Amino acid sequence: MLKRIVIVGGGTAGWMTAAYLRAAFGSNIAVTVVESKRIAPIGVGEATFSTIRHFFGFLGLREEDWMPKCNATYKLGIRFENWREPGHHFYHPFERLRVVDGFPLTDWWVHKRPGDRFDRDAFLMAAICDAERSPRYLDGRLFEQDFVENPEPENIRTTLSEQGTQFPYAYHFDAALLAGFLAEHAMERGAVQILDDVLDVGRDQRGWISHVQTREHGQVEGDLFIDCTGFRGLLINQALEEPFVSFQENLPNDSAVALRVPVDMEQRGLRPCTTATAQEAGWIWTIPLYGRIGTGYVYASDYSSPEEAERTLREFVGPEADDMEANHIKMRIGRTQRSWVGNCVAIGLSSGFVEPLESTGIFFIQHGIEQLVKHFPAGDWDPVLQDAYNRSVAQAIEGVREFLVLHYRGAARNDNQYWRDAKTRAVPDGFAERLEQWHSKLPTESSIFPHYHGFEAYSYLAVLLGLGGEPVKPAPALALMDGTAADKEFQLIRDQSRDLVKSLPSQYEYLSQMH
Ligand code: FAD
Repeated sequence: MLKRIVIVGGGTAGWMTAAYLRAAFGSNIAVTVVESKRIAPIGVGEATFSTIRHFFGFLGLREEDWMPKCNATYKLGIRFENWREPGHHFYHPFERLRVVDGFPLTDWWVHKRPGDRFDRDAFLMAAICDAERSPRYLDGRLFEQDFVENPEPENIRTTLSEQGTQFPYAYHFDAALLAGFLAEHAMERGAVQILDDVLDVGRDQRGWISHVQTREHGQVEGDLFIDCTGFRGLLINQALEEPFVSFQENLPNDSAVALRVPVDMEQRGLRPCTTATAQEAGWIWTIPLYGRIGTGYVYASDYSSPEEAERTLREFVGPEADDMEANHIKMRIGRTQRSWVGNCVAIGLSSGFVEPLESTGIFFIQHGIEQLVKHFPAGDWDPVLQDAYNRSVAQAIEGVREFLVLHYRGAARNDNQYWRDAKTRAVPDGFAERLEQWHSKLPTESSIFPHYHGFEAYSYLAVLLGLGGEPVKPAPALALMDGTAADKEFQLIRDQSRDLVKSLPSQYEYLSQMH
C-alpha cells in the first residue's frame, strides 16, 4: 500500500486535502504538507455550495466548531442582479422544485404565469433571502422540515455522491481563516507541515516523482504527490508537462480584482446569499462574511483594463473600501488534461478552474478529494482507477463549463459589445443541441449535461427563467390538465414564504448568538 502522501501547497486545496485524507485513512497514511512561506495562497474563494456540508461532516465538525472561527455565514443561493436588465434580480437557490401531477412547478409556472417573479413563485428561498433571514431558528432547528439532519454526523459520514436530499444551504467563509483552521485540525490529527519552498522536482526512471527538493529541508520523498500549488501547477504542468486545456474561447473572463471591505453588519444586515451583479465587462461578486464583505470584479481583459476594472469595483463598493488595497488576479480558465498523471494528482486550481460565478472552485476540490479516496491506488497503480478518476474530474468541470456558458448565452442583457458577443461566442460540444431542446421542453435531468457536475435540472431551470434571454414554451400537455393542484401549490409557497419571513430570525441575529 502507499503510505507517504506529500501535498505541495497550503492553500484551501492543500489543507482540505490533508484534513480529508487523515479523516479517511487515519494513521494508515502519513501526510506531509509542504507550503511556501513566501508565496501567498490566492486569498479568495469564499462562497461554496450546499454539498460542502459533507466535507465538514466527514471531518466530524459541527457548525459551532468551525463557523465562528472562520467568520462564516449561510448561503441559501446566488442572487443575480442586472443580468436581464438594470434593476432586475433573481435567485438561483439551493432548493429543488416541487412536482405537481408529474410536472415540475416550473412547467406549471411557464403555463400559468401566476406572478412576474418565477423564483418567488416557485421557491421559498427567494423571500427568505430578500428578507435576510437565517435558515435556522434560534434554537438551532432548520426551517426546511423535509430535510432530516443526520443525528450522528461523526459516525455516519456521507460524501457528495450520497447527497440524496437537497440541503438548503451552503456557507461563505474567510478563505485564509478556513485554511488556518483546517491546517490546525489536520496537524492535530498527525499531518506534518513543512514551511519551505519547493525548488525542484526529482523524477525516477519511469518519469514519476520521487521527491521534491526544498530550499531548507532537503529532499521530501513520497509515494503519492498531490499538486495543490494553484494556477502554477508546479508538479503536474511544470514538472510532468501535462497540457492545460483552455476554456477561454467559451468563457473569456480571465481576470479579477478583489477587495476586503469591513462593514457594520448590524446596520447593513447580512444577506444569506452570494450576489453576482452584472457589469460592463463581467460581474461583481458580493460575499457577506461575519464582519466584512468579500467583493471582486471578474472581467475579460479583452474588454476592460485592470485600472478600469478597479475603478468600477471601487465605485460599486463605495467609500468603505477607500483604504483597502485591491488584489489583482490573473485567472487560468480551463483544466489540466489529466489531473492524475503517474504518481501525481492535481487538486484545486492546478487541476482546473472556471470563473467563480457558481462558486464551484471549492466544490471541484471536494469532488477531487472524494474521488481520490474512492479511486485510491495500491502499489500496483492499477491504471483503471486512474482513468476513472481522470474521467470523473474532467466531466465535473466540463459540465460546469457548459452551465456557465448558459449564463452568458441566456442573459437578456444586450447593451454593449461584451454582452452582445456573449450571444455569438463558441459553445462547448453538445451545448447548442441541448439549448435548442430546452426551447421546446424545459431542462430535465435527462436533457442536461449527462455526467455528474454538481448541478441538477432545477438549477438550469432557475437560471434559464431568471436570465430571460432564451425563449421557453409551456408543455402542451398542461393545457389539457386540471391545474387546480398547481394553483394550490403556488398559494402554499406564498403562505409558507410569508410565515417563514415572519418566524425566522435574521441571519445577523442567529450568527451573533452563535458567536
Ligand atoms: P492557492 O490558494 O493559490 O494555493 C497555492 C499554494 O501553493 C500556496 O500555499 C503556496 O504557498 C503554495 N506554493 C506555490 N508554489 C510553491 C512552491 N514552489 N513551494 C511550496 N509551496 C508552493 N472558489 C469557490 O469555491 N468559491 C468562490 O467564491 C471562489 N471565488 C474565486 C474568485 C477568484 C477571483 C478566483 C481566482 C478563485 C476563486 N475560487 C472560488 C477558487 C478558489 O479560490 C480556489 O479553488 C481555492 O482557493 C484553492 O486554491 P488552491 O489551494 O488550489 O491554490
